[in-house]
Amino acid sequence: MRDPVRLNPIAPTVERARAFFRSDVTRPYEFRRDRLRALEASIRAHEADVFEALRADLGKSIYEAYPAEVGLVYVDLKHALKHLKDWMKPVARRLPMTFWPGTGQQRPEPLGTALIIGPWNYPFQLATSPLVGAIASGCNVVLKPSELSPATAAVIEKVMRHAFGDDGYVTVVHGGPETSQQLLAETWDVIFFTGSTRVGQLVMEAASKHLTPVILELGGKSPCLVDADADLETTARRIMWGKTYNAGQTCIAPDYALVHQDVKQRFVDACQQAVRGFYGDDPKASRDYGRIISARHLQRLSTLLQGGRVAFGGRVDEAQKYFEPTLLVDVDLKAPVMTEEIFGPILPVVDVASMDEAIAFVRDRPKPLALYAFTSSPTTADRVLEKTSSGGAVVNDVVIHIASGMPFGGVGPSGMGAYHGKASFDAFTHTKTVVKKPWALDLKVRYPPYQVPVSVFRKLLG
Ligand code: NAD
Repeated sequence: MRDPVRLNPIAPTVERARAFFRSDVTRPYEFRRDRLRALEASIRAHEADVFEALRADLGKSIYEAYPAEVGLVYVDLKHALKHLKDWMKPVARRLPMTFWPGTGQQRPEPLGTALIIGPWNYPFQLATSPLVGAIASGCNVVLKPSELSPATAAVIEKVMRHAFGDDGYVTVVHGGPETSQQLLAETWDVIFFTGSTRVGQLVMEAASKHLTPVILELGGKSPCLVDADADLETTARRIMWGKTYNAGQTCIAPDYALVHQDVKQRFVDACQQAVRGFYGDDPKASRDYGRIISARHLQRLSTLLQGGRVAFGGRVDEAQKYFEPTLLVDVDLKAPVMTEEIFGPILPVVDVASMDEAIAFVRDRPKPLALYAFTSSPTTADRVLEKTSSGGAVVNDVVIHIASGMPFGGVGPSGMGAYHGKASFDAFTHTKTVVKKPWALDLKVRYPPYQVPVSVFRKLLG
């Protein structure tokens, strides 16, 4: 009888990776440290190729590509190299008196062979940053970059080959949904997925068959709540920066704005001023403004405009995959622009009578990946933070929390698990609880036939 696993064309690649992990070479500190260093050296050696690929895939300017694509990875690498030895140490734990003379510890161990699946919007960073955590934790990896950013996918493979060779330690697999499904049909020790909530559900479903742990970095609609007391010029500048960075194709881009009705018109005007200040009267001519990933995505964004009235922007150039920074007012709350993740440079503005109304609006919808509150009142800011749930939140700014070194991730439909800093190590690590006992003091009272009265247990255990 033919083994059905053999029918999966990806199976030999996965088997090779699993065999590599079983050889135990990934475990020692020196191996992990040297691979982190090799990754850093390889990225630095290929930086120009990375930037060129990002320009080809997304029209990304180096001013975005450096900080958001390679810079963040350097920060993660530096942090991991500095702390790796400490992270790897077993932590001694105090045990209850009844365990004496036993000792307790929590011992980090690599989960094993990891599957990392990346998206196209920050295609280099979102493939490579999780990899830093995997290497630090002693895992090995099969990495599938997005098929929609093919130039960057090719450079990722080049960087990995240069750093690690081709022995099953880090294997890059190219392909779209079909390849992804073939990978997901295999058995993994951990799956790290970054992408849409829809595909995240498929990943979790596939993982459930083998009870594989998953880290899901998903999307959603991240709201801005703007109160009447906010510094409107600064608020508009920061929101429109987040909305137009990478042409709005950022998982934590501000998706829509709930603005106090008393300041709505001033906010709209300030947003237009901000965009003009960034990109001039014709953003298409600006070297700093990116492009939409594909004609299909551009088409989807164009149809979203039907959900409101264009206050400014709205121009599209299909040949260049250009979508002008756009602000919508008089928005239909049932339209796709308010029900789907926008993932492009369109900001719908909805007016609210109070921050409490804005809070209620957010609470009525799925928990977002990020939430942004703009107010001069610390009490109002705390009320928003207290009453809403989101993966992360920023008061009076947008997006920047991803670079803070603190754990980054979603909650509920915006994801599960987190990474960056120590959280990246934890994401690929199992912490094993260990008790060690000497032979001595083998009290017979624990064995049948039981002779001590139950009251002794009551006294000891409560
Ligand atoms: P996507 O879910 O379409 O694709 C992500 C990956 O999944 C790609 O590698 C793709 O090949 C694969 N894939 C696509 N369809 C599949 C299927 N049917 N079965 C198995 N695999 C499949 O996401 P995208 O369009 O590349 O990225 C945009 C989304 O990702 C947005 O929702 C955005 O918010 C989210 N995102 C989240 C984060 C985060 O850190 N939370 C970061 C970036 C992007």
